[in-house]
This record gives sequence, C-alpha cells and structure tokens, in this order.
Amino acid sequence: MLPIETNLNRIEKLAIQKENENFRFRSFLKRLDSRKVDRIVHRLHREITDKIDCLECGNCCHSLTPTVTPEEIVHLAALENQDIETFENLHLDVDRFQGSKFLKALPCKYLDGKKCTIYKDRPADCHSYPHTHKWGFTRRTLSVISNYGICPIVFNIMENLKIELNFSDKVTG
Ligand code: SF4
Ligand code: SF4
Repeated sequence: MLPIETNLNRIEKLAIQKENENFRFRSFLKRLDSRKVDRIVHRLHREITDKIDCLECGNCCHSLTPTVTPEEIVHLAALENQDIETFENLHLDVDRFQGSKFLKALPCKYLDGKKCTIYKDRPADCHSYPHTHKWGFTRRTLSVISNYGICPIVFNIMENLKIELNFSDKVTG
C-alpha cells in the first residue's frame, strides 16, 4: 500500500498531471475481468476508508452537487419548514440531460466548516459517495476519473489499483 495522500492541493495538481495516464488506465481496465477489478477495488475501499477521516476533508460537499430523490425533497423541505415548491425554487436545480434534481449550492448549503449539518438526513447520493464500494467500477471509470482530483479516497484507490494491476509495466513494456 502506498502512503495515503490526503493533501487536496497535491491531489488536484496530480489529477491534472496524470489526466492522460488515467485515461490510458481506463482503457486498460476495460480489457480486464470486471468482477476481479471490483474485488480489488472493494478491498482497497475498505483499507483506504479506514485511514481517511471524511470529517477532516469535506471536499465532496465543497465541489459536488448531490442528486435528491422526490422522497428526499419532501423530507428536506419539511426540515426547512418550507413547502416543496419553495424549497425546490430556492435550493434545487434540474439536470437537463437526466431530468434529476440536485442541491445547487456550492459549497452545499448544509455544510458547516467540514461537517454536514443534516448528516443523518443527508441524501443517499451523499451517503454512497464516492461509490467505490459498488459493483461495476470498470463501467464507471469516467466518473471515477472526474472524482480522482476531488476525493482522496478515489485518488488513493486508483493509485494503488494501478500498482496492484501492474499497470506501469503494461504501458511501458
Ligand atoms: S447534504 Fe451534507 S453530505 Fe451532502 S453535500 Fe451537503 S453537506 Fe455534504
Ligand atoms: S468522501 Fe472523499 S471528498 Fe468526501 S469527505 Fe470523504 S474523502 Fe473527502
């Protein structure tokens, strides 16, 4: 296991420097057994999330706009003592491609410092971020690459995955 990197500035810079490498890695992953890749990613996810404290980071809440389901909209509007229409007008936007609704403020309106003020009521999209515990990693590599420069968990999983799959040897030799 590589030393864990949590410095957000370094991660952001490395994401720019390694963009081409990450797209080559994406092509490389597509040729592998996706279940095998998932099993390694899930183990790395467990090992790395044990070593990273999201309360010391909060970068996803600064950088991303989580999707909210219709049930979550009802719940969040009630928490704000607002009717649904007012809540939607004030706090939501619509993804024009998928039609889904998302919290539009950046940083998130529920973020206080690095803490979520509605932690127990946060949307499922927040709860499951960065999604590296799910199956189908090789089908989500575009989103993984876009999260690589935002989330230290994703960054560290990807860098360790390259080593475990001997990626450098594959591209150089
Ligand atoms: S609802 Fe909470 S966990 Fe989700 S983005 Fe906002 S602050 Fe972060
Ligand atoms: S999920 Fe990733 S970006 Fe969000 S707080 Fe945790 S380490 Fe940071």
